[in-house]
Amino acid sequence: MQVIDASRPTKAVIDLDALAFNFHSVKTFIGDAVQYLAVVKANAYGHGAVECSRRLEAEGIDWLGVALPEEGVELREGGITSPILCLGSFWPGQESLIIDNDLTPVIFAIEKAGSLNAEAAKRGVVVDVHVKIDTGMGRVGIRYEDAEEFAAEFRQYANLSIDGIMTHFAAADDLEQNDFTNRQISRFNWAVEAFKQQGIVPTYRDLANSPGAIAHSNSLGNMVRLGGVLYGLGGDVLPSGIKTPELKPVMSVVSEIALVKQVAEGETVGYGRTFAAQRESVIASVPIGYHDGYARNLSNRGNMIVNGKIAPVVGRISMDWVTIDISEIAGANAGTRVTVIGSEHDISIKAEDIAAMLSTISYEVTCGISTRVPRIFEEKI
Ligand SMILES: *Cc1c(COP(=O)(O)O)cnc(C)c1O
Repeated sequence: MQVIDASRPTKAVIDLDALAFNFHSVKTFIGDAVQYLAVVKANAYGHGAVECSRRLEAEGIDWLGVALPEEGVELREGGITSPILCLGSFWPGQESLIIDNDLTPVIFAIEKAGSLNAEAAKRGVVVDVHVKIDTGMGRVGIRYEDAEEFAAEFRQYANLSIDGIMTHFAAADDLEQNDFTNRQISRFNWAVEAFKQQGIVPTYRDLANSPGAIAHSNSLGNMVRLGGVLYGLGGDVLPSGIKTPELKPVMSVVSEIALVKQVAEGETVGYGRTFAAQRESVIASVPIGYHDGYARNLSNRGNMIVNGKIAPVVGRISMDWVTIDISEIAGANAGTRVTVIGSEHDISIKAEDIAAMLSTISYEVTCGISTRVPRIFEEKI
């Protein structure tokens, strides 16, 4: 990544050593009996798909998972050679893209198989696919009751080979719904058996996302598909009260104060005049706004860290700017560092904390840091 010397100081700092740490921490927790697929869809949850994949590849990851074939192509162009699973299948017209880039698509409807088989037949090749079974997520996938019929019908596609069978959990993070997760596991095992009846025994059997892999040891199959935990976002996607591996946040978002001003008691700040100073105040303008992914709903609610102290967001968040109250913080001037997500000394603001304020999960927070915010990759090796 090219670092432009003169630019707005708002950056997302990606700690690739923390990413590697999390991978090994989870691997130690779960063990070596399974293979590991790192989910790097959506630009690795906002962390930079190519750079994260390169590091994970160097650390021994077995598979990478993307949502769209386009995301898989980006990885190939970035030099990634590991197997890549397209979790969201592919769209009409992308059959060549799949084959040319050696991507492995998930098939969740028989109709998807026909066009890919035709393209593979034209080239005289056999293409590996993984089949997704819907065991209760209710989103995409072959319904588990239809697994045997699907497998029978699939046999006509001589240029496709089912190398994986998978499912996805609806509520693996909620221990109160363990009965349902266990039902999903049973239905999956039933579908594996139905495939076997049709002579299909795929190499890969995978069910578990992050909460599945950490909280349900009976869901490991022979591969796990990990997203959130690799990025250190365990805080709100792993159940509380269970043993979990140590995780470190991978993304920090930092900026600098652009301008400091004195605001008299009673004066207002920002659009809509939603904040009025209760006393003479010192207000700093920080160049990050909702276009950067700092949600407008954090207006008058969010916090940032300046000189190791909490600086509350005051007034509305606008497209490109946030105002914070630094009245209580000594020595803050234009150019002083502002931590938007991350830690300074012993104070931290996690993506999980921001997510809680917004009634969402940390994934949406890191995914939402927009492309206008440059990613700066840090690693010691
Ligand atoms: C996104 C995704 C995952 C990863 O989920 P995490 O909770 O981030 O670990 C796993 N499997 C599938 C099919 C997914 O779409």
